[in-house]
Amino acid sequence: MKNKDILYIVVPCYNEELVLKETTKRLKEKIENLVASKKISKKSRVLYVNDGSKDKTWELIKKINEEEEYFTGLSLSRNRGHQNALLAGLMTAKEKANLVISMDADLQDDIHAIDEMIKKYNEGSDIVYGVRSSRKKDTFFKKVTAEGFYKFMKLMGVDIVFNHADYRLTSKRVLDELENFKEVNLFLRGLFPLIGFKTEIVYYERKERFAGESKYPLKKMLNFAWDGISSFSVKPLRFITGLGFLLTLFSILVLIYSLIVKIIGNAVSGWTFIVCSIWFVGGLQMLSLGIIGEYIGKIYNETKQRPRYIISENLDEE
Ligand code: UDP
Ligand code: MG
Repeated sequence: MKNKDILYIVVPCYNEELVLKETTKRLKEKIENLVASKKISKKSRVLYVNDGSKDKTWELIKKINEEEEYFTGLSLSRNRGHQNALLAGLMTAKEKANLVISMDADLQDDIHAIDEMIKKYNEGSDIVYGVRSSRKKDTFFKKVTAEGFYKFMKLMGVDIVFNHADYRLTSKRVLDELENFKEVNLFLRGLFPLIGFKTEIVYYERKERFAGESKYPLKKMLNFAWDGISSFSVKPLRFITGLGFLLTLFSILVLIYSLIVKIIGNAVSGWTFIVCSIWFVGGLQMLSLGIIGEYIGKIYNETKQRPRYIISENLDEE
């Protein structure tokens, strides 16, 4: 019965016209092999999600869809970011597929890990995480920021799989559960560990981007990290509470100290200390308000319950 399983490979694409041809060539070979060896059904597809690209990505996807049996596409009404595009793809794919693999368009994730993912799925896993075994090909900067990102997330209390991005296999029932997570501030790699079921890990070597440049500059990466932390953990708020408590204790010491200084009779000499304190405490207050504000901002966005993506075209509809 296993050869009846329909696999969908979901690939979010934002301005990826430079890589799509090569990606299509390699994925075509892969999917044809899998079908030939009866590991997946002939109805399996690669689903490209065009995330409001400004170049010819969507035209290219439509052309590929016409020429190739195993390729289909989806277009969002505008750019909504990697996570939302991925979610749109996953939710569309799960209507037809038994298992879905998500990966980036740029071929950085070794597509040969797919075989092992499917093997683990057949052995009973519901989620198979693709984990980068090394980052030899990444620039030093990317390696340090990316690995720092995972460590910081853990420190902040977000349960994620180290060095796992969004290259993973999920069964249909996992995606059905994912649908119940209604949050607007999406951080998918934090959600899957929450869903549970039997999980496995597959290791692969991360390669260089095939063409084009990273769509995750440092600013987007920092935003993404903050989204992850503030959507999954209240540790920063708790940290502020702790800090406030310590400062209050400290200010009692300051009070005692200043009283002593006053009694001794050389109060003016405390000027430096006062000025320092004013700036330090003022800064801390501002920072604390800012962090609280960030969380309120998140609540604000969640309460509006706006749709996370809008599909403008779906080539996979009969
Ligand atoms: N992406 C997207 N929407 C965006 C930004 C990126 O769909 O707004 C896609 C992009 O096309 C790629 C994937 O997300 O398939 C990951 O982006 P990228 O490879 O540039 O990130 P990096 O690997 O450098 O972290
Ligand atoms: Mg990439």
